[in-house]
Amino acid sequence: MPRYEYRCRTCGDTFELNRPMAESSAPAACPGGHDDTVKLLSAVAVGGTAKGGPAPSSGGGGGGGGCCGGGCCG
Ligand SMILES: [Zn+2]
Repeated sequence: MPRYEYRCRTCGDTFELNRPMAESSAPAACPGGHDDTVKLLSAVAVGGTAKGGPAPSSGGGGGGGGCCGGGCCG
């Protein structure tokens, strides 16, 4: 479940809530009980980086199965 960060405009406190995406824009009361809060666009902490992702083309060597080799990128 994604975590969203909110900030209370009444007391200025920030807090986080774990809630479904469908309720991401729903009003969230701060721990102090105020309901005048705004959702912050904070990055969702998913943890972990794409370590084994698709490897970028190493070096500038031509050839291979690159798309740009055949002019299809232009
Ligand atoms: Zn508050």
